[in-house]
Amino acid sequence: MTVEAPASHLRENPFEIARQQLRAVGETFGIDGDLVEVLSECKKAVEVSIPARMDDGSVAVFRGYRVTHNIARGPSKGGIRYHPDVTLDEVKALAMWMTWKCALMGIPFGGAKGGVVCDPKTLSKRELERMTRRYTTEIINEIGPERDIPAPDVGTNAQVMAWIFDTYSMNKGHSVLGVVTGKPLLIGGSLGREEATARGGLYILRDALAKKGMACPDARIAIQGFGNVGSYLARFLTQDGATIVALSDSSGGLYNPKGIDVAAAAAHKGETGALAGFRGADPITNEELLELECDVVAPCALEQVIHGGNADRVKARIVLEGSNGPTTPEADEILEDAGVLVLPDVLANAGGVVVSYFEWVQGLQEYFWKEHEVNAKLNEIVTRAFNETWETHERRGVSMRLAAYGLGVQRVADATTTRGLYP
Ligand code: NAD
Repeated sequence: MTVEAPASHLRENPFEIARQQLRAVGETFGIDGDLVEVLSECKKAVEVSIPARMDDGSVAVFRGYRVTHNIARGPSKGGIRYHPDVTLDEVKALAMWMTWKCALMGIPFGGAKGGVVCDPKTLSKRELERMTRRYTTEIINEIGPERDIPAPDVGTNAQVMAWIFDTYSMNKGHSVLGVVTGKPLLIGGSLGREEATARGGLYILRDALAKKGMACPDARIAIQGFGNVGSYLARFLTQDGATIVALSDSSGGLYNPKGIDVAAAAAHKGETGALAGFRGADPITNEELLELECDVVAPCALEQVIHGGNADRVKARIVLEGSNGPTTPEADEILEDAGVLVLPDVLANAGGVVVSYFEWVQGLQEYFWKEHEVNAKLNEIVTRAFNETWETHERRGVSMRLAAYGLGVQRVADATTTRGLYP
């Protein structure tokens, strides 16, 4: 049985969107056209076939990808996605965004991404393990601590990273801590990594609210997606005093204008596997969630959920992009004209890769930091990136997205020029 991708959630080709954004940055920031050409391609894209034994004895054949966009500033870094809709162009777009994100954060990595076309919810733990170990083996010559370092993304977690770490290490004959980040704490993970993407988003949102004369206790917030990013974000914002008026996962959304008890909703999801059916709020659709009366909407699930067809109905004043690529370029223009502040993915969700960088450094040194050190260093890096982006946004009169991508692309372009074109 070959596992085929179903009809996709993607409305547009994400790699074309990523390239369109790069061209816009090139024009606005006066980046050499030849360099833009170089950067609009991925350095390497590997497609692999992954046969894996199912529990009933049959063999399923999955399709997997690993893409490196750029390594001008260091080894490539990026998550691995397990989702039925994964395509090569989606992985390429995500890899390119990782390059700009790492450069914007000033951490010494290029961009990469990986994905397997599968529905992890329908696989048993043993099937998932066999598939992951075979995928790792198929890409074993592409990854490594000095080469390309995977991490979790949609549909993958610390357990999947543990299997990748173990498979790679077994093949090398010794434990290689730096091959993957987002590992469980027991085997070389970093304190604060699991929560890091949401924590980074919290720091960015605090800074943005302050620019608008607000703080978390004044804010009414709707969050789409209740996985790693969305669920921790909801918890942190609640702790900060914000009112979470809506939550959602793939089963649908929940709305309570008085505020949702996030811990109770998480407990319900823990028991039943879905947010749907939680009694402390009314059911809404994922589409309705994005259009609610609130101050902040935070897409934390999949790409292209805010598009030309619904952007003019977004009522929030701030969009916090916890997910990668949730806003299409057409929607970006509509939101900008309407005065909505979009905090772009490369800034808003960079906390994950920043603490992944810390995990990689700790693993290489075999010396592990305290959680408050991790969080303080994370805050320093993302706050600096926010301030640089805000300053560029104001000085040049461009959107936060153009400012953030511009800073990232410029740094990669400078590194490429300084290294020179080989041979
Ligand atoms: P996850 O798999 O932990 O959670 C994804 C969530 O989205 C789940 O709650 C799922 O039910 C929900 N979802 C799936 N399809 C949906 C749909 N059609 N409508 C609404 N909700 C839907 O994934 P994650 O790690 O939280 O990643 C979410 C986003 O954040 C992705 O874009 C990812 O690239 C990005 N991101 C993740 C990290 C990280 O460290 N995990 C870092 C940076 C960016």
